[in-house]
Amino acid sequence: MIFYGYKGTHVRTAPLPGVACPFCAATDTLHVSLFSRYAHVYYIPLFPFSKPLAAACTSCHMSWDNKALPAALQAPLRAVKQDTRMPLWTWSGTALLLLGLGWAAVAGARNDRENNAFLAAPHVGDIYTVRAKDDDKNYSLLKVVGVKGPTVDVVANEYVINNNHPIDELNAPNKYSKESFSLSRFELQIMQNKGQLTDVDRLED
Ligand SMILES: [Zn+2]
Repeated sequence: MIFYGYKGTHVRTAPLPGVACPFCAATDTLHVSLFSRYAHVYYIPLFPFSKPLAAACTSCHMSWDNKALPAALQAPLRAVKQDTRMPLWTWSGTALLLLGLGWAAVAGARNDRENNAFLAAPHVGDIYTVRAKDDDKNYSLLKVVGVKGPTVDVVANEYVINNNHPIDELNAPNKYSKESFSLSRFELQIMQNKGQLTDVDRLED
């Protein structure tokens, strides 16, 4: 199976009025066809990278491709090429990719703002994603069970998981320790700044 490669699409065929055929010398018998060659992945066009063209004479049926154009045809063909708008859809995969990146950036920024707001005003039930101690790849959870002024009481999840979004897997009541401990909001802030606390979730009931 081929997942990537390139394809060509026919863009336009135009006459070349007033240009004499280099082979049979007839005029007004030449036509040029323009193509766009584009890279694709899974048949989604990514970007165009060349504009091959071919010319043919309807009188003598001689034809010439991109690589072997007679000198007399080069200037008129270049003019047609410049006059032809190449199809924008050959960029559609790249456009989708950029949209996706933009969306991810917007979603990331919103999540950061949300995390900061949740951390500044903790609620019972908030769940903090934290890195396991001395272990970059593993994550666990802290759950807020009480808020008293500048401190929050949390219970630690007793499991770690090699996934930076552990909440789906670990957020079950029986997976948390029974014993709570206190953290100040200042400590939470420091944990967030150091990248030890990576996410805050407030689950809606
Ligand atoms: Zn001809």
